[in-house]
Amino acid sequence: MASPEPVFAPYRLAPGALPEEAARAAASAEATPLVAGAGEPLPGPLVNTALADVPAGRAASPAEACRAADGSTAGGGGPARACCSSPRQRAKIAEASRAAVQAGFAGICLDRPDASLALGLLGAGFCPECQRALARHLAREYGEHFQPVDYLALARAAIAQASGAISFEQLPFGRDFWRVRHDALPRAIGDYARDARDAARAANRPFDVVAQFEEVGHAQLRAARHLDAAIFPARPGPGTAGLGLARLLRAAMGRRPCALAPAPDATPAALARLAAVGATCGVDLSGVEPSGDAGREVAAVRRLARRLQRHAIAPASCDPVAECAILYASEADLWTAGRHRAAVERVAEILAALHVQAPIVTKVQDAPPGAVLVLAGCAGMAPHEAKDARRRLEAGAGILALGEPSAADEAGRPVPSPAFPPGKPGGTRVGEGTYAVLPPLVKDGATAAPDGALLDRALAALLGRGRRAATVLARVPVLVILHRVPGALLVHLVAEERAQGATLFLGVHVAGGARRARFVSADGQDVRIPMNPSGNSVSTVLPAFRGYAVLSLSI
Ligand SMILES: [Zn+2]
Repeated sequence: MASPEPVFAPYRLAPGALPEEAARAAASAEATPLVAGAGEPLPGPLVNTALADVPAGRAASPAEACRAADGSTAGGGGPARACCSSPRQRAKIAEASRAAVQAGFAGICLDRPDASLALGLLGAGFCPECQRALARHLAREYGEHFQPVDYLALARAAIAQASGAISFEQLPFGRDFWRVRHDALPRAIGDYARDARDAARAANRPFDVVAQFEEVGHAQLRAARHLDAAIFPARPGPGTAGLGLARLLRAAMGRRPCALAPAPDATPAALARLAAVGATCGVDLSGVEPSGDAGREVAAVRRLARRLQRHAIAPASCDPVAECAILYASEADLWTAGRHRAAVERVAEILAALHVQAPIVTKVQDAPPGAVLVLAGCAGMAPHEAKDARRRLEAGAGILALGEPSAADEAGRPVPSPAFPPGKPGGTRVGEGTYAVLPPLVKDGATAAPDGALLDRALAALLGRGRRAATVLARVPVLVILHRVPGALLVHLVAEERAQGATLFLGVHVAGGARRARFVSADGQDVRIPMNPSGNSVSTVLPAFRGYAVLSLSI
C-alpha cells in the first residue's frame, strides 16, 4: 500500500463518535487504518492516514438501483442496492474519490461494491443496464444475426414453471446470464479503482484503493486484483473453522494486505480463535472493538504479527512451505456456484489437521515443484488448467483429486477432457507421475467426511512415508503452518486449548540442522529453546502456550 500499515486491521469509526478518542483506542490495539465517513470531520493528522468510506453498493435512490427478476428494487426490502453496470453509479463513486483526495484522505474503502451480486441469482441483474450488458454479450456469443430476446419475459416464464430453488442452469441463456453478472463486478471495481487513481495522480498524491466485500466468491476474488488491499467477511465454508478461508484469501491477494470482517455476533472466543488462525496466513481481523476480552486477545495477536512484519518475516512476505498445493480454480468456482470453493476450504483444513503443509494456489504453475497438486471438487475448470495439470502429472508430480476433475469451456459447457484418466485411492501411474482419486468432499450441497483410511493411503502414495515437513505430538490439537524466507523458517502455531508438553518435529529438509530456535507467543513468552536432532528431523518440546505463537529458526 502507498502508506504501509504495520498491520492491516481496518477500524470503522462509529458515526458521531469522538474521532480522536476512538482513534487512540484503536491505535493502542493496532487497529489501523481508520475508516471514516467522507462527511465526518476528522482532525488533520487523522485524515492523512484514514480511508474514506465510499458506499459503493448503495444506490442513491430506488430509481437508480438494480432490479430483481420480479421487477422490484434490488435490496430485498432493505437499502436499495446499486447496479454494477450503471454508468451513473460509476460517476458518483469517481466524484466521491475526488472528494476524498481533496479532503486529504490516504485512500478510499469501497463499502460492499458486490451488494447486488450478493442478492443471488434472482435478486438483481434485471435492471435495464444489466439487460443491455446481457444483450451485448449474447450478440457477441451467438453472432450478429442473433435476434434480440425479451430476456425478462423468458426468465419470468422459466421461474414461474420451476418448482423449488432455481439455479442458473434452469434459466434461458442461464450460463450467459451467470457469466455476465459475475463479469460486471471485476469490471466495475477496475473502473472505480482507475478513476480514483487518476484523481490521486492529478493531485500528485499516494492513494490506496481498498474494498470491503459482502461475500467471498468467484467475482469478488477476481475483482480483488484491482485493489491495494481488501476486507472479506469471515464466513468460513460449511464444516470449516477459518484456516481454509485465510489460505484462500492469502492466495488471491498475493503479498497485499487482507483482513477478515467477523460476524457482528461472533463470541470473544470465536474472535480470538479467528485472529490466531488468520495470523498464520497474515490475515488480520477488521472491526473488532479494541476494548473488552476479545479486543485484548486480538490486540496481542496483532502485536506479535507486527513484530514479524518489522523483521520482514510476516507470512505475506514469506513463502509458504508446500507439501501439497491446493488449486483454487476460478472457473470451477463459477460453474459449480461455489461448491468447488467450499471443497477447497475444507480440504485445506483436513490436510492441516494431519499437519500436511498445504497452501492454496490460484494457478497450476504457482504450485511449487515437488508439491502434490490437490484438485478438490474441480468440476468445470478451464481446459488450459486441466492441460497444465496433466503436463505436471506426466512430468513426475503427484495429483490428489477429491471427486473426478472436469473441464468446461468459456460458456460453462462441459468439454471432454482427456487430462484425467480414471484413478484410484492408492494412486495410478500416469507418465512419470502418480494420480490418486478419492470421493468428493461436497456432495449435493452437503459436506461429507473423508474416509480417513483412504486419505492416508492416497497421501502415503503421493507424499511417501516418513518424510514430513512438520508433525506435532500433543494432547490437544495444535495447528502448524510453515513459512520460509532465505535464512529463516517460521513455524506458526495455534492451540485453542493450552498445549503443554507438545513435541514438534521438523524435517531436516525444511529445518536444516538448526540447533536453536526462538519461541514467541501472543501470551507474552519470548524464549530460546534447543532443537534436538532425531533421525531425519529435529525436534523440541514447546513451552506451554495457548492461542498463537511463532517459533523461528535460522537455517
Ligand atoms: Zn443492474
